[in-house]
Amino acid sequence: MQKSIERIAGDSDGVSYEFPVLRLAGADKTAPSAYLQAALHAGELPGVVAIDALMPMLNKAEAEGRIRGNITIVPWANPIGRAQYHFGEHQGRFHLGTRTNFNRSFPLLAAPDARLLPDATFGGADQRLKSRLVQLSLGHDIVLDLHCDDEGLAYLYVHTSLWPEMADCAAAMGVEAVVLWSEDTDGTFEGASIMPYQNASADVAKFDRRVATTVEYRGILDVDGALAKSDAEGLYRLLAARGVISDTDLPAPGPFKGVAAPLENIDMMPAPRGGAVLYDVKPGDRVTRGARLATIVHSPGEVDGRTEVFAPQDGIILTRRSRRIIRSGEDLLKLVGDSKSADARSGTLED
Ligand SMILES: [Zn+2]
Repeated sequence: MQKSIERIAGDSDGVSYEFPVLRLAGADKTAPSAYLQAALHAGELPGVVAIDALMPMLNKAEAEGRIRGNITIVPWANPIGRAQYHFGEHQGRFHLGTRTNFNRSFPLLAAPDARLLPDATFGGADQRLKSRLVQLSLGHDIVLDLHCDDEGLAYLYVHTSLWPEMADCAAAMGVEAVVLWSEDTDGTFEGASIMPYQNASADVAKFDRRVATTVEYRGILDVDGALAKSDAEGLYRLLAARGVISDTDLPAPGPFKGVAAPLENIDMMPAPRGGAVLYDVKPGDRVTRGARLATIVHSPGEVDGRTEVFAPQDGIILTRRSRRIIRSGEDLLKLVGDSKSADARSGTLED
């Protein structure tokens, strides 16, 4: 394993940011290559500790000559967000200087060619970071961007052009759900990883072996040794199933048994009132239309001081908020419905 340090210039003299890149060289130039990054939203750490648990497995494979394709790993993808504390609270989702989400405004290239990247020299530090992450990842057959939700199941976002071909990956990783999307108007890292291939010729696009996904490793507090180990094993199984590493002891992943649904099926359930949330449901619960999802206590102890929220359709609870204070209009949870949501949203689901 080789380690190098990337350096991103800050926006004023005397400020710069650094992050490590780990590389394992593959022995077979025709084997698929893989890029993994974690903590692009800098406080989302289940993927960071999964990589920590994965590295000994990869180092062992390297020592035994079983690394077939090149592997590039960025365990801390966002040194800018990692350093952002605001009155003692960590703020890793938005760049404090611009309020731009660290997982938006990535350049969506017309083709997988880093020469098409816009010149970020005079953009902000966050734009330089995004440009560099695209450069580092571009050209890999497999791109995994490890995030987490508030409280949630383990699930993937996958572009429709890669589904159901990526069902083996979902099964290998052991995730419980897959959300399928088709348009990216916001420039997510995943979009930057798959959109350049949409108009590429078949020999460049190679959709049969391409993987691009945002991995949501459950909730923000699910930073846990046992989960890190099982997630690392899932990543390892994916890399083996797709031929990046060889491991003859591993069986091929079975069929994917989780839920796969289009993004338009998701009900986000904006809160009708602000207040304290009493949830009736948790991630993984199956609900039927009309079931109570939550009660919002806005005027404690008063007549009509509570407002109830009910399921608009049958489905499964994918996520819910980790905080219990809610503003009116803020989304309460993600319900993956069995059919299209009356509140269907295109593009990204959240700011
Ligand atoms: Zn995230």
